[in-house]
Amino acid sequence: MPDLVRLGLVDPFEAENEAPKQIAKRLEKAGLIERFNFKHGIFTMTRRASGDCQFLDEKTRRCTVYPQRPDTCRKHPQVGPRPGFCPYGAQRHAGTARPLHER
Ligand code: SF4
Repeated sequence: MPDLVRLGLVDPFEAENEAPKQIAKRLEKAGLIERFNFKHGIFTMTRRASGDCQFLDEKTRRCTVYPQRPDTCRKHPQVGPRPGFCPYGAQRHAGTARPLHER
């Protein structure tokens, strides 16, 4: 949930007072997340038809929410990427990118 709050997709007040299931329902309905795994607290951001993350700039290939990016993007890979760039970019071209974000 902290990732969703940092990204501005969930209001801090909502995160504290609303049931995760209701929040996930709203985000899914708005097309912001594809699914939310309550057991493991992992959500999958909606991707474009191309497979790109919705926050990836299609032209510059840079992350448009870099300072607020989810923890999993911060931790992957252990070294790199260059500041501003998506760590999943290279994998995307291999057709394997499926960034999961922990709440
Ligand atoms: S780092 Fe990549 S996967 Fe993560 S939010 Fe930014 S564009 Fe999306």
